Amino acid sequence: MIGRMRARNVNDEYFKKITESIPALVSVYNVHTGEYEYVNDALPKLLGYEREEFLKGGVPFAISITHPDDLKRIMDKNADALERADNGLNEFVPFEYRMLHKNGAWHWLHTDGSVFARREDGTVESVLNISLDITEQKNIESALRTTKSEMHALLTKLKARVDEEPSILESIVNSSVDAIVSKSLDGIIRSWNKGAENIFGYSAAEAIGKHISLIIPHDRIDEEAMILGRISAGEDIQHYETERLRKDGRRIAISLTISPIRTANGTIIGASKIARDISDRKRHESLLKEEEKRKDEFLAVLAHELRNPLAPISSAAQILQLKDVASSEALWAVDVIQRQLAHMTRLIDDLLDISRITSNKLELLTQKTEVTEILHSAVEASRPLIDAAKHTFHISLPSKPIAIVGDPVRLAQVVSNLLSNAAKYTPDGGTIWLSAYTEGAHAVITVRDSGIGIPRELQPKIFDMFVQGMRSPNATRGLGIGLTLVKRLLEMHRGTIEVQSKGANFGSTFIVRLPLSRTAPDTQVHTHDEPSLHHSPLRILVVDDNKDALESLEMVLRLQGDITHVAHDGAEAVFEAQKFSPDVVLLDIGMPTMNGYEAARRLRAQPHGENLKIIAVTGWGQNADKERAREAGFDHHLTKPVDAGALSELLLSYRPTTALTR
Ligand code: ADP
Repeated sequence: MIGRMRARNVNDEYFKKITESIPALVSVYNVHTGEYEYVNDALPKLLGYEREEFLKGGVPFAISITHPDDLKRIMDKNADALERADNGLNEFVPFEYRMLHKNGAWHWLHTDGSVFARREDGTVESVLNISLDITEQKNIESALRTTKSEMHALLTKLKARVDEEPSILESIVNSSVDAIVSKSLDGIIRSWNKGAENIFGYSAAEAIGKHISLIIPHDRIDEEAMILGRISAGEDIQHYETERLRKDGRRIAISLTISPIRTANGTIIGASKIARDISDRKRHESLLKEEEKRKDEFLAVLAHELRNPLAPISSAAQILQLKDVASSEALWAVDVIQRQLAHMTRLIDDLLDISRITSNKLELLTQKTEVTEILHSAVEASRPLIDAAKHTFHISLPSKPIAIVGDPVRLAQVVSNLLSNAAKYTPDGGTIWLSAYTEGAHAVITVRDSGIGIPRELQPKIFDMFVQGMRSPNATRGLGIGLTLVKRLLEMHRGTIEVQSKGANFGSTFIVRLPLSRTAPDTQVHTHDEPSLHHSPLRILVVDDNKDALESLEMVLRLQGDITHVAHDGAEAVFEAQKFSPDVVLLDIGMPTMNGYEAARRLRAQPHGENLKIIAVTGWGQNADKERAREAGFDHHLTKPVDAGALSELLLSYRPTTALTR
């Protein structure tokens, strides 16, 4: 090494020759004066200075162009080395630092120092520095460092991404409403998300580490072996519906999807399962099932109820057929038939009403009306039933009229339905109370009875379709739609109904509320002037494809003194009318081959057809049906079964004006 040369004199030619020829930067400085004793040509050249600038400026000049960040480090090291050198050691450590080129660029130097000359006392006189320009090396190093740090940054980013993945997964798991749970193959719970906490009621801390049987009901514990068996065999289990136990002891219906957890090499080490709470769905299904069951029961009840009146009607008809039947027996038989018929008609009317209501086809004939009037017609309709059961009946009415807006016929039907139920579900000889009063902006109507009452558990359902309670000892059963009809009719009037009963045998109270009308009811004056008429007979053609309906109607008219003729369908009616020249045609609508609408059009087109009175007699009584009938040329519309009174009244208006008022 050059630093260990034994040269002591910078003017030594040999020393100069060598130092000028080597590609290193060589300098010798005096540690006491700080002056350069020698600087080779390479050093100033490298840094863009003249050799003189170094020689003149000495060490302070060199310091002035040394990078401030490196200065302290090299000064300390140098001082340290000099101190030891003074004690006879030569332990200079190489150091690296930056020096400034005249053009402003920094050059990295690697400098090796050594004692150049000592004084007589052995202390250091001067130091030889041999430096190499390592800028390029440093640049490469720094480039490498940059690359390294870029790579490091990239790696850090990648790592963060990798670290993030589980957290994305975790947040998905935690935000799921489903329970997501994993367990080892021995059934120990390993993870438990928020969904699991909500569904099963155990916190993660309570569940993790416990056996999965924590949430399995005793009677389903065998399922676990089956599940683990299938999972161990690598199978997935999809949508397995079962029940699990909540912390609060409640059983819940759940659907399980379970898959095996595998290690990287495919070994199955556990199971992950997703449990979905399907309680709501199950409840819904069971409601649907219950509804279905009620419907089936209803059909059975319906068949039974419609069949019941047939036996007495049939016996009564047989009695009437007997040749020598006494007139009292005949009257009795007719009475039976009429009563049973009325009962059946009521059932069928209720059925039709309910089907109209459920299909939104029921129309209200709304007007201003008065509660007392409604109650009177309701009582009139239910009175026979109340009297037949020998009930005591109390009615309490307000002193002032209560005005409401509604369809009086439908509202009377509501009250009459409640009264009939009260009569039906009260053992004979009971008491029924009917009252009306106002309460705030409402008219209140209550129907109370001393009857069999309604069990509390049935009360919330009593207005549902087809719901029937206890059998009444003294009454025929209905169809379980009466109260549904009542409730729906009231809803159509913006009214409400509630039931109160303390339970079996404590009687029942039904409370109806209807909004009050803000103005007083129209006072309608009904006059019942009944003119006595001289019945001049009408020529009436009766048309129906139902033989019984045809013959019975024809008989009523004939007995009334009219001249009748029959036809069994539309085409026949058109044909017969030409020969018979009727004044009035009673025409059924639903008939095979030619229906009533078509027949009416053709009848109208016949000579004298314009003056013909054509009356539709049909089961279809909706306004739309009436409208259609009017368009087809019908003058009037009667709904089956035809009310004899209504028919005679109508015919009266058609009779030639030989009517005489007495
Ligand atoms: P139905 O009388 O045709 O069975 P409803 O819809 O009118 O049907 O009544 C439903 C059920 O409510 C009845 O089957 C009966 O059990 C019960 N119910 C109705 N009114 C009364 C009442 N006043 N007292 C006791 N039970 C009643």
